[in-house]
Amino acid sequence: MPPFQELNFKNRFIDLGPDFFQEKQPDPVTDPYLVDYSPSAGKLIGLPLEIETGFLEKFSGNQPLEGAQPLAMAYSGHQFGSYNPRLGDGRGLLLGEVLNKENKSWDVHLKGAGPTRFARGFDGRATLKSSIREHLGSEALNGLGIPSTRSLAVIGIKEIIYREKPELAAILVRVADCHIRFGSFEFFHYTNQPKNVERLTDFAIQNYHNDLWNEPDRYRIFFRRVLTLTARLISKWQAVGFVHGVMNTDNMTITGTTFDYGPYGFMDGFNVNYTPNSSDVHRRYSFQQQPEIGFWNLNKLAETLVPLAGSESLQEEIKQYQPLFNGFYREEMGRKLGLSILDADFSQLTQEMFQFLFDHKLDYTHFFRLLANFPERTGKSQFPPDLHSWLDRYLKLCERESISHDERKKKMDEVNPKYILRSHLIQHALDRAIKDFDFSEITRLRVLMENPFEDRPDVFKKYDINEELYSQETPQEFLGRQTSCSA
Ligand code: AMP
Ligand code: MG
Repeated sequence: MPPFQELNFKNRFIDLGPDFFQEKQPDPVTDPYLVDYSPSAGKLIGLPLEIETGFLEKFSGNQPLEGAQPLAMAYSGHQFGSYNPRLGDGRGLLLGEVLNKENKSWDVHLKGAGPTRFARGFDGRATLKSSIREHLGSEALNGLGIPSTRSLAVIGIKEIIYREKPELAAILVRVADCHIRFGSFEFFHYTNQPKNVERLTDFAIQNYHNDLWNEPDRYRIFFRRVLTLTARLISKWQAVGFVHGVMNTDNMTITGTTFDYGPYGFMDGFNVNYTPNSSDVHRRYSFQQQPEIGFWNLNKLAETLVPLAGSESLQEEIKQYQPLFNGFYREEMGRKLGLSILDADFSQLTQEMFQFLFDHKLDYTHFFRLLANFPERTGKSQFPPDLHSWLDRYLKLCERESISHDERKKKMDEVNPKYILRSHLIQHALDRAIKDFDFSEITRLRVLMENPFEDRPDVFKKYDINEELYSQETPQEFLGRQTSCSA
């Protein structure tokens, strides 16, 4: 594999010109140190399994990477329902776009690289804690098979920054398919720059949805594509119980990729109102709101495309969101339940299941693993008594599928994780990192979440991962845990 000195930068965004960004080098940092490196993210851009000498200096921004042309992107967006005209990469820099051996382009981005022209008086830094949270979250979603930005590394820096209290700072090296957000379009739309909305849309189609370039109605079809990818992404979040926490339009990309990890969380005891973001007092971005918010955000994107695609066609397209989402979600739930006949009986059964999970606050993740073992490996007695008649009806639907129990279990275990990134696991890793400067728990969690569906004895042994400990339910005091935006 080529070392990072030979990263094949093919920067495209810079061609859009200065209306779209500020060119800026990362600010130098003192004594960068490695917190964790993800080899599987490194592989995407052709980096070796272990970091080489010089990595920290280059990826913390202390030394330039050859071929990189760092820039801070301009964007705005709707935050919690209100338009904020002044956003943009206040602390992030797109170092450049790397073309890998498979001819796929990956953005290499630093988060926390110093204040840019978009910083609005903030310090341009990220806390070590929030960087670790993003690192683990993105690698975990990827392990679950959900489109996500990746985290190449967290690099700690010897700098204290002030949030609710003094905090250690760090830089997150993000590797992502795309950094163009709904908010990128909003920025040019609301500043009355229709030509730049068009240039951005053409750029987005050419570079990210190139198969649409020759469509006669390409702007409309582009919107349809983004809508479809967004609906599919959110159906996957819902299926696994992931709550993003800050679904502002600047945190949604045109490739339908989970983007910008702040106070996210995974469902433990099932609660449709679960909101991991402690600042979201109105629960705008709660679990059950996510599909609807996806729709709301798509409407905001559509508004910016009206001059290009026409209002009527976009309205036609947006109507497809709900049925598309429902279809994707039904398929996700079918897979989770090991069922392929997704008829009215299936819908009824699923609905009753959710009611039951909610009433009993059952652990959302464990429930499906337990159900996969039913009836041959786990008897009815393992479930609460008032679920028994539901279990009978579930078995009836299973019988229609004409596959053996073992086959069904295998299929279910491939989509229902045994391990999820529970809040207490993250907290434990953060405590060890912050209090003891011991980052081994971060590595352990990252490795565990690479494949959360099965036990891997050799890997578990190498990293000292205790199967029982990491698959335990969330302790009472951590249930429904919330994090603040600034933490
Ligand atoms: P986020 O919550 O990370 O999506 O950030 C929202 C907006 O605030 C973006 O424009 C960020 O660039 C900006 N921002 C957040 N924190 C900082 C910071 N410490 N310094 C500069 N800009 C920031
Ligand atoms: Mg953001």
